[in-house]
Amino acid sequence: MSINRRVAAVVSAVALASPAPVMAQDGGTWSVNVAGAPLSCRDYYGTPVRIYVTSGLNNVGIATRTQNGQPIIVLNPNVMAQFSPTVQVWWFAHECGHHALGPNNSETNADCWGIKIMRQQGFLYSYAQLGEFAVQLANLPGSRMGHLPGPQRAQAIAYCALT
Ligand SMILES: [Zn+2]
Repeated sequence: MSINRRVAAVVSAVALASPAPVMAQDGGTWSVNVAGAPLSCRDYYGTPVRIYVTSGLNNVGIATRTQNGQPIIVLNPNVMAQFSPTVQVWWFAHECGHHALGPNNSETNADCWGIKIMRQQGFLYSYAQLGEFAVQLANLPGSRMGHLPGPQRAQAIAYCALT
């Protein structure tokens, strides 16, 4: 959802656990299975984004960088599992959007980018799927970091999907 300090601490813990950049040791991967779909991400500069999955994350997902500046996504599989497959893929796409948007990165832009890329890639194909956002994001609060309150957020996502 966002980059915040509490979560950055979790991320550094993950990075510290890996003295060498070996995928099997640090748990990072270049793609992740989200609701049955193998997903990967590149940042604005074309750099592949490494992905970590941990239930220790205090969020559904975050996009941040390691101390070396490498772009990473961290996902909490337990929180992800509370959402439908469509919304799970969108959470991943949202976090990827934070990296892919570069200078245009913002919470609302990442929301929009995520749903547009899903439509382009065939993950979004029905109006009913947009209804899932209205239900599943309904109780999310807005934030000072730019998250719209859930109902407005779902409405903006639907608008992006259809424009
Ligand atoms: Zn976000």
